[in-house]
Amino acid sequence: MSRRAFVGTTLVGAALAVSGASSALSSTATANVGAANLVRLADGLDVRPRAEWGADLAPKGPMGREDVRFLLVHHTATSNHIPDQRQLIRNVFAFHTSSAKRWNDVAYNFFVGPDGTVWEGRAGSIDGPVIADASGGNQGFSQLVCLLGNFSTTVPTPAAQHSLVLLLAHLAQRYELSTWKDATNSFISRGSNRWSAGSTVEARTISGHRDMTYTACPGDSAYVLLDDWRAQVHPIVAASWTRSGLQPAVRSALEAP
Ligand SMILES: [Zn+2]
Repeated sequence: MSRRAFVGTTLVGAALAVSGASSALSSTATANVGAANLVRLADGLDVRPRAEWGADLAPKGPMGREDVRFLLVHHTATSNHIPDQRQLIRNVFAFHTSSAKRWNDVAYNFFVGPDGTVWEGRAGSIDGPVIADASGGNQGFSQLVCLLGNFSTTVPTPAAQHSLVLLLAHLAQRYELSTWKDATNSFISRGSNRWSAGSTVEARTISGHRDMTYTACPGDSAYVLLDDWRAQVHPIVAASWTRSGLQPAVRSALEAP
């Protein structure tokens, strides 16, 4: 099965899951206030769509479709005291669309809160691969997942790590990214301050922002956990291959060497 065919199939499946989740949840909306708009992307992975934080904050312009080769973990580098995750994400939107950044929407495709809540970030990211932005320049070819908080000296909560692992696994599966522990993918950078435009980059398929840009993001205490997260993501993705009946040749290519 070609990469394109696989992704296309997966996206159709995701869309069906979204519509199924909407209808299933509508009947319990009044009994479960606040959960009515959750979108189920995978077992245990329910995402709050962008409208949950930004229904009145439309993107400032169109955003293209990404050719996803790897996943990139960030943090907001803001306080770990987060009384209102919606307000924090709205603050990120205000900053990223201000004259300081001039991006069309929040830079990240998804956010993960300390209680494990997963939020859609950049508009359209639940449905498909939307091009992201990043401080220091966006080298491209990734989907960005951002932990709410500052993980320079603080470890993300177990709930945040659990949701992050499920989200990374889902995105790896959706975009057919190999997740064995040393897996890499290559691409031609669109330009960051570490990988200038036109340079060939070999990136771990789950990387931290500092691998792409001269930055402290996602914080030392999160960055050192990347190997743990890779190790947790892989068996989830591998199990999904079995359920999806993925062709043995494709499976071995993803599993190799
Ligand atoms: Zn970052």
